Amino acid sequence: MDSNKKNSPQTSIPPGNGNGANPTEKDLVLDTVGVGIAHVKDTTILWANRRMAAIFGYATTELTNVDCAELFPSPDDVGKLAESSRSAFEAGETYVGEWNMRRKDGTALWARLSGTRIESSDDADRGATWVFEDITAEKAAQERLRLADAIFETTTEGILVSDAKNRIVAANPAFTTITGYSREEVIGHDPGILGSGRHDPEFFENMWRTLDTDGHWEGEVWNRRKNGELFAEWLSVSAIRDDDGAIEYYVAMFSDITKRKQDAERIIYQANYDGLTGLPNRRLLQDRVHQALSEAARSDEQVGILYLDIDNFKFVNDSMGHNVGDALLVEVARRMKPCLREHDTVGRLGGDEFLVVLTRIHSAEETTFIARRVLDAVAKPLSLEGGEHDIVVTASIGIAIYPDDAVTSADIIRNADTAAFHAKEVGRNTYQFFTEDMNVRAQKRLTLENKMRRALDRGEYVLHYQPKVELRRGHIVGAEALVRWENPEEGLVPPDQFIPLAEETGLIIPLGEWVMHEACRRAKAWQDDGLPPMRVAVNLSTKQLAKPDLIKDVARILEETGLSSEFLEIEITESALMEHPEDAMSKLSELREMGIALSADDFGTGYSSLNYLRSFPLDAIKIDRSFVADIGGEGGSDMLAAAIIAIGQSLDMKVIAEGVENQNQLAFLRQQWCDEIQGFFFSKPVPADEFEEMLRSDRRL
Ligand code: C2E
Ligand code: CA
Ligand code: CA
Repeated sequence: MDSNKKNSPQTSIPPGNGNGANPTEKDLVLDTVGVGIAHVKDTTILWANRRMAAIFGYATTELTNVDCAELFPSPDDVGKLAESSRSAFEAGETYVGEWNMRRKDGTALWARLSGTRIESSDDADRGATWVFEDITAEKAAQERLRLADAIFETTTEGILVSDAKNRIVAANPAFTTITGYSREEVIGHDPGILGSGRHDPEFFENMWRTLDTDGHWEGEVWNRRKNGELFAEWLSVSAIRDDDGAIEYYVAMFSDITKRKQDAERIIYQANYDGLTGLPNRRLLQDRVHQALSEAARSDEQVGILYLDIDNFKFVNDSMGHNVGDALLVEVARRMKPCLREHDTVGRLGGDEFLVVLTRIHSAEETTFIARRVLDAVAKPLSLEGGEHDIVVTASIGIAIYPDDAVTSADIIRNADTAAFHAKEVGRNTYQFFTEDMNVRAQKRLTLENKMRRALDRGEYVLHYQPKVELRRGHIVGAEALVRWENPEEGLVPPDQFIPLAEETGLIIPLGEWVMHEACRRAKAWQDDGLPPMRVAVNLSTKQLAKPDLIKDVARILEETGLSSEFLEIEITESALMEHPEDAMSKLSELREMGIALSADDFGTGYSSLNYLRSFPLDAIKIDRSFVADIGGEGGSDMLAAAIIAIGQSLDMKVIAEGVENQNQLAFLRQQWCDEIQGFFFSKPVPADEFEEMLRSDRRL
């Protein structure tokens, strides 16, 4: 072909085979063949078959004598084609090539061209035969594939293709970038090799179910990179089905969203926590207060709000610099945390102001112990900046109680703030309640507590002894040591008025130790005096039972006093046993091994069952005096007492009835074969010398 000549298409040519004659059979064959065929000489189409015309959008005869340039988008193309085909033609071979061509209406098409020069014996140029195949659709498909491939290779999303058995058959470079696994390492494996172990089987079951029914699933998945690192991905899986609807492939696309998640978490963190101390900030605190109040409203509990303000913080900040000020705030935050219970919250409101939310409060007084602990912790000397600055700072705390002082979070925080202001006014390093009434009560308790501490040093506590009498023979077998406070101003104070406070303040530890020591010492002295042997019983409080070195303390007391362990009995209430049953169990076992007798005090008032109690190594149970008091009454106590006696004895425990006040009760207990009794009927708790007299005279029932 030659691009130099350009003829315009001619319309005045005969139809059919182009020569105007009746079509021969050969012509018919050429017209029905599925490819376009043309005879071209120079650049002019001398003849074209029907299919050729159809491919290029011409009427059947329209192509005769048309210049080939008409079939290409650019006139230069014809020259290029001639150039490309020259060597094949010269070698007598067929030229094959794919060309972008043009239909009559100007639209583009792709055609595969094969051209063969027509040989002639006389060496004259007879042109060439060209065959045209429309490969537009094929080309488009190829292009789509190439594009898909490029996307697969270059996208930043990880792509994993697995077969119907979920074996990996393809993975793209982004997959390697994200997971660290090369293509080779994963082909043939289950995608489960990326598993993080963070999702339960149910998660995946649900994913497969959705894939099966909807053909698509997407969601957040935690996976593990080759280096062991966990990462979060947004995963979208599609099932690819074959023509029969059977699943052929699963295509999983995912992007690493770990960083996005971390960013989101950081933002949430920054919005809720104080950057300096890491404590909840004002926003989160208000939330927590609100939450605490609504929970308390539901459960009928109280909430205590402590508003803490560091004394003279401005002075520290101004004179020592902001770095020291910051370090101080961090240290205060660190010291506050251990003063609180697990479910309490401490946060920083800003500046030098902190807020503590105390939940599950049963009395307003409870908050004072925590407030005091916090004040003491803050007031310990601290050295900041490598010991360069040794300072002591104190704080003032305001306390407001829900629901007494306020019922909304805003109000209660404000009232606590007001109270903190009062605390500063009354001299700092102290706490104040919002209501004056509470301050008076707290003050009274504080005074009482201080007096109780002093009483221990001054030896104002005394023990009274209440005999325990064996029912069968009627003689004294032991005595319960009961503490009293010989208060110089108020006289003899009964334990009910100070034991609970001693429990709360921790004073019960030294006091309880004194009681045990004194009781053992006295019992030993009586023995040494030749009085009939008897057990001395002491009460052990919850706090004492929880003390880690309780066993050592008891052993030491026995050693110091010289009392043999079989003469010591320890009474523990069932509620104390139940507080930390496992710890109690192991301590009781050790005490028992030492030869000490153990009894369950106030039995029947707690929630535990006899059946449960049997697992503790107990020697005796003491029926609570409220049941004994009701004997002969209508509350059903007779039956209960009788049942306790029977079951206790069947468990090989002695049963002691306390609070026996009259002959009726005694007769009933005797009838039920109760082992021992204790109560006003035989004797009230009496001072040591009176009890000694009873022992000496062998007083009997
Ligand atoms: P508890 O262990 O149940 O002690 C028995 C209490 O019942 C004693 O009260 C005693 O005076 C009283 N009582 C004895 N017989 C009768 C009676 O026939 N009728 C009536 N109505 N009461 C009787 P007390 O001495 O006032 O002690 C009260 C509680 O204080 C004790 O109850 C005990 O829980 C606690 N307590 C006393 N001393 C100590 C101690 O040294 N350490 C500990 N942790 N708690 C102690
Ligand atoms: Ca007791
Ligand atoms: Ca009791």
